[in-house]
Amino acid sequence: MEQILATAQCPYCGVGCGLEIFKDKKGRIKIRGDKTHPATKGDLCLKPIPLPKVMDIGRVPAPLYRESKKEQFREISWEEAFQIIANRIKENKPDENYFYISGQLTTEDSYVINKFVKGFVRTNNIDANSRLCMASAVMGYKLSFGSDGPPGSYEDIDDADAFVFAGSNAAWTHPVLFKRVLNRKKDYPQGKIIVIDPVYTATAEKADLWIDIKPGTDTALFNSVLYLLNKKGWIDYGFVSRYTEGFSEALEEAEKFPPEKAAQICGIKESKIYRLAEIYAFSKKVISFWTMGLNQSSNGTMKNLSLINLHLATGRLNEKGCPFSLTGQPNAMGGREVGYLVNGLPGYRDVRNEEDRRFMEQFWEIPEGSIKEKPGKTVVEAVDEMINGQIKLLWIVCTNPAVTMPNLNKFWRALRNTFVVVQDAYLTDSVDYANLVLPATQWGEKEGVMTGSDRTITYNRAFKQPPPQCKHDWEIFCQVAKKMGWGEFFDYKNSREIFNEFKKTTKGRLCDVSYWDYEDLPKQWGGRWLYKDLKFPTPSGKAKFNKAQFEPPADKLKYPYSFVLTTGRTKKQWHTMTRTGKSHELLRDESEPFILLSEEDAFELGIMDNDYINIRSVRGQIYIKAKIGKIKKGVVFSPFGYGKIYHFPANILVSDALDPVSKEPELKFSSIFIKARKKR
Ligand code: SF4
Repeated sequence: MEQILATAQCPYCGVGCGLEIFKDKKGRIKIRGDKTHPATKGDLCLKPIPLPKVMDIGRVPAPLYRESKKEQFREISWEEAFQIIANRIKENKPDENYFYISGQLTTEDSYVINKFVKGFVRTNNIDANSRLCMASAVMGYKLSFGSDGPPGSYEDIDDADAFVFAGSNAAWTHPVLFKRVLNRKKDYPQGKIIVIDPVYTATAEKADLWIDIKPGTDTALFNSVLYLLNKKGWIDYGFVSRYTEGFSEALEEAEKFPPEKAAQICGIKESKIYRLAEIYAFSKKVISFWTMGLNQSSNGTMKNLSLINLHLATGRLNEKGCPFSLTGQPNAMGGREVGYLVNGLPGYRDVRNEEDRRFMEQFWEIPEGSIKEKPGKTVVEAVDEMINGQIKLLWIVCTNPAVTMPNLNKFWRALRNTFVVVQDAYLTDSVDYANLVLPATQWGEKEGVMTGSDRTITYNRAFKQPPPQCKHDWEIFCQVAKKMGWGEFFDYKNSREIFNEFKKTTKGRLCDVSYWDYEDLPKQWGGRWLYKDLKFPTPSGKAKFNKAQFEPPADKLKYPYSFVLTTGRTKKQWHTMTRTGKSHELLRDESEPFILLSEEDAFELGIMDNDYINIRSVRGQIYIKAKIGKIKKGVVFSPFGYGKIYHFPANILVSDALDPVSKEPELKFSSIFIKARKKR
């Protein structure tokens, strides 16, 4: 007889599909969609299906330690491991410690770690891999609406008639959401899908209009659309005057981008800009989805703001549409709720706000002044401090920065120079640089909540026993806290106790979950529309237009570095492949990294499909298989998640220039040199 073991949120992308884990008649553990889940109603994609078969491959076998990175690891006891970390933290000044965590942790894990770091170690040097992913979207939302979080819901897809995908290959990266869009299009064929991307992606294949933009120029495009909306009289002036402020300043900036000029900057036909303006002006309901193509840019915050400006100018909120950023990880939203970035505090609070600091100090029962006002160093900024010895300890939790950080040769130098703790379920590439490795439990072996892209919180039940050597992420921090003498503040028996503590911090806040217990979940906080009554948490109560200034990418295209490299994901692999890379079903057709280039460029360079080629940037070089396909001339694409066993991670080449506001790195634009095979 079939037996249901657990329900949980999928541990991969931010769509946050509800899953049901069950034992079939033959006793095999399997995964299918949870039909009762309110956000995704039983739908799922290929990625989570092989999980039960691969979860135990390549686990960290025991706590491992080596004083010097030249030595071999030896197994040590957990007690020794806790003591080693506690001694290091005590020896260091607070800001000499750095914590790098992940949107794959549960909300409870992130809450405890953030409390440990900001409340007790007394440093704000804690960042998450969301810095490489969502930081620009967070700033876009905060500057426009006064708070973080997408204003709409997946339900909005079902009656929308226009979908703009900007820098998002949702067909591969958020497949269940994209399927919902296609279903809507089936029911309503007049609906339109617009894709803005230099790569002719699987999403672009389904589009009514592909805007083959030059990487890095989206702000110019969206400003030009605003210019046109105004020029044609297509602004919703009633909405603008009642619910927004700052229109004229934003327009003043947009007026620098008449379509003929923007078309040149963006490398597209002018007619495409007119068509996009018509979409915002005349559709009944427009949803703009975006991901890394906008966020991972030195102009990322401005790209976000210029797109949100279009929604404000045309009144595209609630029943008329919404801007909707898609998260790449299962719990990036939950991490933001507990404030796991350098400036955050639980309940969407901020270290820069005195009232917020005092509230959390009282709540955590720590002396006034314990929480520092100045945000910590963001992770890419911290690299220099690791290299020059100002940061002495780096504790990495549930993420694999040795593959995902930009400018990897530099980051690897920083890792070699720092005492590195890697806390993970798996022996990742980052373990190569560790002094201490801690075996952690993972999804399916622990309980806790996660929040998907549309603010739906799901309670994950465990369905299997963890390997005996593993401990929960929150538990490891509580044990170190005991060694530090803070045990009474970290005396949690289970994750439910942590959730109950965290939820009190949300009372009366936008992300209020204070009345919910595990049994009430899944549930969406903020309701279907976050700003239902069009009152916004800004000082004036109005949404804000922002002057979105276009700046070209930091890397310049200058001979011999005359191609643009942009990076992203493949269809079946996820992040650094610690689980998906162990499934032969998912690896089929994706067993090695590649660089995609256009037919025209390949012809000119004398490169054939499947040739191995050498690519260089000023930061390093890689040797990689060439694939010829549909992509804008002068632009090449490579997936970022393949680690060292697959030759060379693409991020060796990638720029570490930062957006000045969000401090998100420019992973989507690096100038590179491709050596011609034989000139034609
Ligand atoms: Fe998991 Fe995303 Fe696929 Fe849903 S769409 S099953 S959340 S990877």
